[in-house]
Amino acid sequence: MTESTTPPTTEPTTDQPVLVLNAGSSSLKYQLVVPESGHVLASGTVERIGEGGGGPADHAEALQQMQQRLRDDGVDLQAVGLRAVGHRVVHGGPDFSDPVLVDDEVLSRVRDLVPLAPLHNPGAITGIEAAQEAYHVPQVAVFDTAFFSDLPAAAATYALPRDLAREHRLRRYGFHGTSHRYVAGATADLLGRPLADLDQVVLHLGNGCSASAVHGGRAVDTSMGLTPLEGLVMGTRSGDVDPGLHAFLHREAGLSLDEVDELLNKRSGLQGLAGVNDFREVVRRKDAGDDDARLAFDVFVHRLKHYVGAYLAQLGRLDVLVFTAGIGQNSPPVRAAVVEGLGGLGLSVDPERNEARSSEARVISPDGSPVTVAVVPTNEELAIARQAAEVLSRG
Ligand code: ADP
Repeated sequence: MTESTTPPTTEPTTDQPVLVLNAGSSSLKYQLVVPESGHVLASGTVERIGEGGGGPADHAEALQQMQQRLRDDGVDLQAVGLRAVGHRVVHGGPDFSDPVLVDDEVLSRVRDLVPLAPLHNPGAITGIEAAQEAYHVPQVAVFDTAFFSDLPAAAATYALPRDLAREHRLRRYGFHGTSHRYVAGATADLLGRPLADLDQVVLHLGNGCSASAVHGGRAVDTSMGLTPLEGLVMGTRSGDVDPGLHAFLHREAGLSLDEVDELLNKRSGLQGLAGVNDFREVVRRKDAGDDDARLAFDVFVHRLKHYVGAYLAQLGRLDVLVFTAGIGQNSPPVRAAVVEGLGGLGLSVDPERNEARSSEARVISPDGSPVTVAVVPTNEELAIARQAAEVLSRG
């Protein structure tokens, strides 16, 4: 039972933490965190898995390296009373709308989704298998698509032949859902208003970027689709392009479909336009007079405005526009540019509030604005840990 009278913990190690794992194909991000207090005992990334050159051979070895690092930091996984392992799984397909306790059946269903997420789900599967071997505690899978699993049909459906779509499970799934859900909730807390009463547009702007429209805590639209390629301009991903581009590049530039896929995922976006995917560097070059960087910034913002306008129309009204993730939390010029000229729609930022550096959730629009503009830090690890704990408490 959690009661509001529970005193704050004075000795965090007496609380059982959750180990949150985000296993990619060649990296393993980890965080050991107490879900209730948010106290982080340790975090880090093991890289170059399976790439030779002294990196770990596989995810099992990566977990051993992680454990060694934890020991070096004075954290003994056996002694802390590990409660569960929470796994970030990118693609939950049409089935998974909630976090689940991993068993053989779940694992086989996640495996069945590999065709939908060939770059992402295999890493998660090997991560889960390695953690099952290493830690005899409950394993919980938390899906990046879950928050969007009940998008309205009109938002989730591509205008494709129905039979083909059904056979191949083609629909708009959306990603970054753990972040969008967490930030929507944290925004309601910041404003001191019930989540159920709010219409929000959430802009998650990190290396990957996505937007969502959230009505009463429920996602009603999102910018990523079947894959994380759709939507906003990102570090190395193009986001929306004319679907005719693929055939054109095949015909005219002689690219295979795999090469087009690689081009749009790895060499486009800010990287393609400005020659660099790190947003800080894009802004630095733009400010130094680099025309490519200026255009990259402008295209990035233009696409953002496009989605803000679209979601305003989908929602019919808007209480709050929220910026989160690396760029959203740290780039005043992007936030200012997105709302520039939108005063007529009730959107503006107070320059001083927008420029102020802070790691806290905060409002950056002027007092009394028709629409609140906010910066709310995301915390996907904590969100995963909390969801894992919740699954356990359900029994
Ligand atoms: P990931 O999607 O990998 O979690 P992050 O949320 O950490 O990524 O976001 C990374 C992006 O945030 C990078 O493009 C980085 O340049 C950008 N970023 C980080 N700090 C700043 C800053 N102070 N100003 C502008 N952009 C920033």
